Amino acid sequence: MLDAQPKTTQLSEYTEPNFWVETTELTFELQPENTIVSTRLQLKRNPKRPANSPLELDGDELELISVAVNGKQLGVNDYSLDEECLVIHNMPDEAVLETKVRVNPAQNTTLDGLYRSGGMYCTQCEAQGFRRITYYPDRPDVMSVFTTHIVADAEGNPVMLSNGNLITDSLDQGVRTVTWHDPHKKPSYLFALVAGDLVVKEDSFTTMSGREVALKLYVESQNIDKTDYALDALKRSMRWDEETYGREYDLDIFMIVAVDDFNMGAMENKGLNVFNSSCVLANPATATDATYQRIEGIVAHEYFHNWTGNRVTCRDWFQLSLKEGFTVFRDASFSADMNSAVVKRIEDATLMRTAQFAEDAGPMAHPVQPDSYIEISNFYTMTIYEKGAEVVRMLHKILGAEGFRKGSDLYFERHDGQAVTIHEFVGAMETANNIDLTLFKRWYKQAGTPVVEAQTQYDSSKQTLTLSLRQHCPDTPGQTNKKPMWLPVQLGLIAEDGQNINIQVEPAHFVFSNVPENTRVSLFCDFSAPIKLEYEQSTDELLFLLEHDSDGFNRWDAGQKLMLSWIEQARQGQFELSDSAKAGLTRLINSTDLDPALLTYLLKLPSESYVAEFSAPIDPVGIHHAREQVVNALANALESEFKACYKRLNIQQDYAPTHSQMAARSLKNISLYYWAMASAEGINQAQQQFQHADNMTDQMAALNILVNAGEKAQAQAALNDFYQQWQHDSLVINQWFTVQAGSAVLGTVAYVQTLIEHSAFDWRNPNKIRAVIGAFTNQSLVNFHQADGAGYKLLVDAILRLNKANPQIAARLLTPLTRWKRLLPQQSNLMKQQLESILKSGELSKDVYEVVSKSLI
Ligand SMILES: [Zn+2]
Repeated sequence: MLDAQPKTTQLSEYTEPNFWVETTELTFELQPENTIVSTRLQLKRNPKRPANSPLELDGDELELISVAVNGKQLGVNDYSLDEECLVIHNMPDEAVLETKVRVNPAQNTTLDGLYRSGGMYCTQCEAQGFRRITYYPDRPDVMSVFTTHIVADAEGNPVMLSNGNLITDSLDQGVRTVTWHDPHKKPSYLFALVAGDLVVKEDSFTTMSGREVALKLYVESQNIDKTDYALDALKRSMRWDEETYGREYDLDIFMIVAVDDFNMGAMENKGLNVFNSSCVLANPATATDATYQRIEGIVAHEYFHNWTGNRVTCRDWFQLSLKEGFTVFRDASFSADMNSAVVKRIEDATLMRTAQFAEDAGPMAHPVQPDSYIEISNFYTMTIYEKGAEVVRMLHKILGAEGFRKGSDLYFERHDGQAVTIHEFVGAMETANNIDLTLFKRWYKQAGTPVVEAQTQYDSSKQTLTLSLRQHCPDTPGQTNKKPMWLPVQLGLIAEDGQNINIQVEPAHFVFSNVPENTRVSLFCDFSAPIKLEYEQSTDELLFLLEHDSDGFNRWDAGQKLMLSWIEQARQGQFELSDSAKAGLTRLINSTDLDPALLTYLLKLPSESYVAEFSAPIDPVGIHHAREQVVNALANALESEFKACYKRLNIQQDYAPTHSQMAARSLKNISLYYWAMASAEGINQAQQQFQHADNMTDQMAALNILVNAGEKAQAQAALNDFYQQWQHDSLVINQWFTVQAGSAVLGTVAYVQTLIEHSAFDWRNPNKIRAVIGAFTNQSLVNFHQADGAGYKLLVDAILRLNKANPQIAARLLTPLTRWKRLLPQQSNLMKQQLESILKSGELSKDVYEVVSKSLI
């Protein structure tokens, strides 16, 4: 059992630090098991804090060797030291503090602080990893100028990197010493160090003011042929940020390092971004189109942080969405500009509706600006990132592109070099646009997904259409009786002939005049607000909008609503594909004026987890079988159309990660999927494609089809062939794990257990854990929720194994169990029992304790 309840940190208790750190000088003497970190801080008392208040330094798992103030060594009676803090009383107002500590990177399995990944040294400091490197005021409002010396054996570490510019590099009897200096003040969470045997791919970028920036991507030597795309995406991001936000890069060098063992996707350390190798490395043979797009988005995201996060940073971690919400919005706009804006919108809305709405409806629901936390790592959530981005997006909608840009210009001008709050971000938008956004700010303080009920009434004598909207927001933990939200409602009216109607709007009453009969209303176009819409529409109406709505997002949305109704009918045993639906879908498949990427989404059934979010209580087994029935009905009814579409698109060409090629491949592969679900001929074609594909997109799509639609023996043979072909490539093997663990057909508890025991699986590597356990619990719902609870047991065993070894990953794996209240009673009880067993199992990390204890309230 936990000895004491871990401490909760409250936003309302924020106070400034007692001391500011003017400069930070670090010396690392690197040894795998015995690294010495010497730190020299120039401190200045904060005049706003009481005189004589002590110096408080955070520290975690550090062995303190010595501490000195202004050159005088302190004895054990001169300071107090516990597991989390070093406190020094009687400090002069200005002082130089010198400390020396010992850390053990080789033993650090948390991947937080300084650790070893493969043969290299690497750091991760956000949010609170720097305190695992040295004693420091490890909080984002303390911004300092950093100088870093790295001393290490030259042979094992030909590359030694830190933030900023390289100042010196010297070699003495096999020991190399390098010095890096970062002229920009930054908080400790943006510190980074990398050392090891890496090779570099170089490029360069000329900024808008004509400065030359060296771009360097560091990888292990076997990955040097996987670096082109990330560098290309980086250059496009740099140009885009100049053109769209007027933001120029500020150092002479920008570095990215690919690391295999990494808890997150990537980290925006100043001038030295560290990337999970899965989010940066790609070539056509090993990476799918989806991977290419993810790389493009994440490279942009981390680069954009240079202004939104690094130059202007967060005052405290309750402001996390200040940098993440804004930066996700920025990378989404970039991806929309590079590819299809509608498809990007569909993907983001899908993520909101499956993952973020589920979070809002669960025990960990919290506002975009939370009020409290036990472990900040648990708040790197869908709400902070994705909903935070939706909130910024609504501001963009309300202010218009020009007004938003005026606001962001003012924000950068006012706050460059500062650590600020969300309030200041909205304040800059208000001043620049002369608008009062007080009511809008509720989006930051109120948790939960607003529900909007819409009703329309047509008066044929007056030719008027009246629209009424009502909103309410369900209670969430600690929040009841919520106030109404400011909602940007973007809508369209579509006449019977499919034409969009321009109408006069009276905003107060939402009465539209001169509206012809049988006009259809399209609400919240482009997903203009992150809400749940309740609006009754007939099957005919939805089918009509799927074909004719001029808003691509709502076309898709109408189709999803229609398909959800089919899946519900199938659950009642009453589904049959109507002639009109078949005719409408046939016209869609054969239409030539539609972006194939959008068409792919129009033809795709909602995923099981999407369907789950629209049902109460959730019956995962029932959902799975009903959805399969609808898939088969569509496949059988439209087999010849899908076959023809596949044949039309299956052409020989050199692979390129361009939008037009990716769009065509996505349509080709979904056609092959339906064709294979309908007939052996389609399966044979998938087999052909699997064997002869010259790119991973086509090969993986075919493998997926063989695993989920083929005979067992055929699936197994393909999986074996694939493993033989790719066993040398860890990133490809992750995909091989996922296709099995996430499969409803293959991914049973017993089968997933064999994957965990496979020699390619590695408990130290988060990508492997996500590829097997994450895929199983989030995609193979029918097996994860199997009746005897064995799926839950498998997950809990993994969580307990990782509880101390890697608490961040352990806590993140818990998410599916936190939804226990929404499942059918039998599953719900079993899930609850498993959560209780975690609580009883012994000493829990703060990360796991917080999620489990909040889930059981
Ligand atoms: Zn970020």
